[in-house]
Amino acid sequence: MTRVNAYAAPREAAPLEKTVIERRELGPNDILIDIAFAGICHSDIHTVRGDWGPQRYPLAPGHEIAGTVAAVGDAVTRHRVGDRVGVGCLVNSCGECRSCLRGEEQFCVNGAVFTYGSTDRDGTVTQGGYSEQVVVTEGFAVRIPEALPLDKAAPLLCAGITTYSPLRRGNVGPGSRVAVVGMGGLGHMGVQIAHALGAEVTVLSQTLSKKDDGIRLGADHYFATSDPATFKDLRGSFDVILNTVSAAIDLRAYLGLLDVDGALVCVGLPPEQLGLNVGSLIGGNKSISGSNIGGIAQTQEMLDFCAEHGIGAEIEVIPASEINAAYDRVLASDVRYRFVIDASTI
Ligand code: NAP
Ligand code: ZN
Repeated sequence: MTRVNAYAAPREAAPLEKTVIERRELGPNDILIDIAFAGICHSDIHTVRGDWGPQRYPLAPGHEIAGTVAAVGDAVTRHRVGDRVGVGCLVNSCGECRSCLRGEEQFCVNGAVFTYGSTDRDGTVTQGGYSEQVVVTEGFAVRIPEALPLDKAAPLLCAGITTYSPLRRGNVGPGSRVAVVGMGGLGHMGVQIAHALGAEVTVLSQTLSKKDDGIRLGADHYFATSDPATFKDLRGSFDVILNTVSAAIDLRAYLGLLDVDGALVCVGLPPEQLGLNVGSLIGGNKSISGSNIGGIAQTQEMLDFCAEHGIGAEIEVIPASEINAAYDRVLASDVRYRFVIDASTI
């Protein structure tokens, strides 16, 4: 075991504090990564605050990891020392079940191992990227193209793939009318990716305070959901609505914004249940679905797509000592648009 510095929550809802965690010795198929940057995803906050149920503490979050390979196991073929790599929400899966064979390791029938708070194959509990180093199976690290700076690339490992995957699955392209609900970490990536795919993009945000940024990032239109006229004027306007909101939304109001055959895709995962009257679906052949990150191959595809289109996250780099303050700002929707921890300060 190697001991590395990290920031972890000592118990539910407690502020994160500096601590030391253990990383396993390098196995033949493992790589050791020197972490350069780790993004702060709202899921980190939901998790350590117990929004999604009890966790095992201390818990170091972080599943938007970018860094360089520091060492490789004897059997490693995909990565070399010095390579720029990223790790997202997944660090292992069986590799043999129908989901893994389809490239959807997040749905591994035998249990995907998530980057933190998950039981690893050796029985230990995984610890995330708010730390100096991480050891992962080589197949769960993706290559970060040279065109992407590591700090702006880190958030792509979750916010990027979580928005790219459903947009691709929904065949979004030229002619698609896409609305992105919530201009936060996921939302601002969704806007850029939908625009790069050729869609007509509308942002639906609580206020117009981030309108200039939304337009600069590729939105064609921008409306405030606090204005009741938005839901009247935009009725029947969209083919796809990507809901990235971390809190409960009024499903009926948003389903009303879909055109016939339109789809509301939820990636935001609030603790609350959302009520649904099926009449909101039946009147217009509408559908509602969820989407959970994306597989490893698609994560690589997304990084290559972002590099090709010059897309990165808009970030505020912070020292680790400011993690708790950053959490408060994310909860207040005061993030523009992703906090990224400089891992050298851990
Ligand atoms: P974030 O940066 O906090 O963005 C969420 C945005 O939602 C906010 O910026 C805000 O946008 C809007 N919002 C927040 N509270 C709201 C409220 N009470 N009413 C209406 N709008 C509100 O969070 P994130 O990191 O993008 O994550 C968003 C959600 O996706 C979280 O629930 C997270 O756990 C989930 N997530 C899911 C997956 C997946 O695989 N499905 C992956 C990653 C994250 P405006 O200020 O523009 O209104
Ligand atoms: Zn995330």
